[in-house]
Amino acid sequence: MKYGRFGGQYVPPELKGKLQEIKKEFKEAKKDKKFLEEYQYYLKQYVGRPSPLYFAKNLTEKVGGAKIYLKREDLNHTGAHKINNAIGQILLAKRMNKTHVIAETGAGQHGVATATVCSLFNMKCTIFMGKEDARRQQVNVERMKMLGAEVVEVTRGEQVLKDAVDEAFEYLLKHDDVFYLIGSAVGPSPYPEMVEYFQKVIGQEAKKQILKQEKHLPKAIIACVGGGSNSIGLFHDFLYDLDVDIYGVEAAGKGLETGLHSSAFYMNKVGILHGMKTYIMQENGKVKDAYSISAGLDYPGVGPEHAYLKDIGRVKYDSVTDDEAVEAFKTLTRLEGIIPALESSHAIAYAMKIAKKYKKEDSIIVNLSGRGDKDLNTILNLL
Ligand SMILES: *Cc1c(COP(=O)(O)O)cnc(C)c1O
Repeated sequence: MKYGRFGGQYVPPELKGKLQEIKKEFKEAKKDKKFLEEYQYYLKQYVGRPSPLYFAKNLTEKVGGAKIYLKREDLNHTGAHKINNAIGQILLAKRMNKTHVIAETGAGQHGVATATVCSLFNMKCTIFMGKEDARRQQVNVERMKMLGAEVVEVTRGEQVLKDAVDEAFEYLLKHDDVFYLIGSAVGPSPYPEMVEYFQKVIGQEAKKQILKQEKHLPKAIIACVGGGSNSIGLFHDFLYDLDVDIYGVEAAGKGLETGLHSSAFYMNKVGILHGMKTYIMQENGKVKDAYSISAGLDYPGVGPEHAYLKDIGRVKYDSVTDDEAVEAFKTLTRLEGIIPALESSHAIAYAMKIAKKYKKEDSIIVNLSGRGDKDLNTILNLL
């Protein structure tokens, strides 16, 4: 197996055929110059890549220690890294002559990215969203509808993300014209490897940029981990640079000891969820609800490659609390004039903790996965 004992395809036999088709198409697409050119074209002209690698001088001076660089995924069209993957997968759907794209969404971010590319490529779009999530994320529901998507509110289970995923897989099974566009490095094979492939542009660019600006590799790279797509996108090109320390940051919510958090690694239990074997938050044999102030980190599992990278010790996984993330949110906003997403604020908070461990002439890269406009209400409610 690709990720040691993790990953795989834990799905009903009827679904395996469909996954096999996607796997075959993806393998061919990667060798197809025209497909790759089209993907690059949209990244450049539509998403706005390459995103800058910005030296956060004020933050660096305040924190002390290594120079902190920010990879500006917040400047992408739609305001986060998710669009990179949405473009890649919809081009694959087009290649497979699919006419209808479905997706699940929790906070609505991936739903908006999917609805966006469906408008662009004139595809029918259905977004599954837990009824409870839809209530909490009304603005994103309206954005998706504005973009032409149908939003199906899922009423099974706890009416949240994991229930929306189950509903999406069932819908996929019953419809032949449908492509399921998964938004993070999770799910059954080949999704985790596909999402990594379409997100690895983040690390490829960052590596070139830091070599140009600093003439040497960074001492450390840092990203927040929900399902694990912005992080694996940054990490991919650095995995074999063994002098680079790699950190993945989960959400410790109100504190790991309170039980109100989203750290699958802290729970340290392996299980099966959404077609993959990986670390999953469980209690008494049931999936435990994840909690974080940032909706995008609020997922009870983690992508299988991260599980593998933890086991072999290549990446160090740690966590940051709500309070620390909010503090980092305010600090970056005030010092650099950049309002980060609350998800990304976890990575920034961690960078602020570890920068001092390195020397002044060293550099570290933090993935600024998205912009924080969407989080202003959450922050205002705290004040
Ligand atoms: C969705 C989201 C995340 C978390 O998802 P990953 O797949 O772990 O990257 C992080 N940051 C932002 C801004 C997001 O929208």
